[in-house]
Amino acid sequence: MSNLDARPAETLCTSAGSTGPAVELLAEREVPLGGIRGITVRRTLPQRALPTVGAWCFLDYFGPDSTPMRVLPHPHIGLQTVTWPLAGEVRHRDNLGSDVVLRPGELNLMTAGRGVAHSEFSVTDGLLQGLQLWVALPDSAREIAAGFEHYPDLPVVEHGVMRATVLVGEFSGASSLATVHSPLVGVDMVLSAGAVTIPLDKTFEHAVLVISGSVTIAGCDVTTGPLLYLGIGRDELSIVADGDARIMLLGGEPFTEELIMWWNFVGRTHEEIVQAREDWERGAGRFGVVAGHGTERIPAPPMPELRLTPRKRRP
Ligand code: MN
Repeated sequence: MSNLDARPAETLCTSAGSTGPAVELLAEREVPLGGIRGITVRRTLPQRALPTVGAWCFLDYFGPDSTPMRVLPHPHIGLQTVTWPLAGEVRHRDNLGSDVVLRPGELNLMTAGRGVAHSEFSVTDGLLQGLQLWVALPDSAREIAAGFEHYPDLPVVEHGVMRATVLVGEFSGASSLATVHSPLVGVDMVLSAGAVTIPLDKTFEHAVLVISGSVTIAGCDVTTGPLLYLGIGRDELSIVADGDARIMLLGGEPFTEELIMWWNFVGRTHEEIVQAREDWERGAGRFGVVAGHGTERIPAPPMPELRLTPRKRRP
């Protein structure tokens, strides 16, 4: 495992509010993913007081790490997974029959809907690095059939010192074809030293994760580690890079439905999560079979003693 940066605790650049622009650094948590050779990731979503940014409900930054990735078949419901590798190659297989090698610069988007199962294995020795994100599906879409999309080419916007790749949504006139079910944006920005001002959708809330380098955004100095929450109501954002830097911009319409997140499931009720867990444990058709793994799969952990309740947004 690796531990890139020891990070300071939560820092307030200015006081934050969820009804207007904010500038708030939300500390990452180091989370071991399990197993003797498991890697440790830096998780910045969900946060205690901020379960989502738009419908983005989960953000893990892993690596660089030389531990091979070996994630056996496991289920998801109620979400989309967005996989964005920065180094290394990962083979994705799912119960829909997809079998795809994902490389840096390419996007995998898997829609769980009612249920999907997949596995992820590294295919090369060497360093693995990337982002794993989840998007919560709104009530209107969370029962849809599962789907998988692979995008080897994504739209790029170049402006001054910035080269932006649009993963999902629309940014500066360029739109990704990736299917999303609520107003959402995700943009990878590679920067060289200098300043740039980018347009934003004023109706979205936004946050930035620094992948590498250090930047000053809305007057706040930020480097790898925490999530910079920017609130809602901005129609532009100034970014100054000290040198080469790379950041991920996330945004979306504030997601007002209350979520229950447990293990690999995003739902609305305790009962629904219990049912999904039981369905996975008994091998129900809902999750199908991921070919190529024999009987190997990741068993669901036991349910906690307590009833699961939604994470509340701070007032
Ligand atoms: Mn998964």
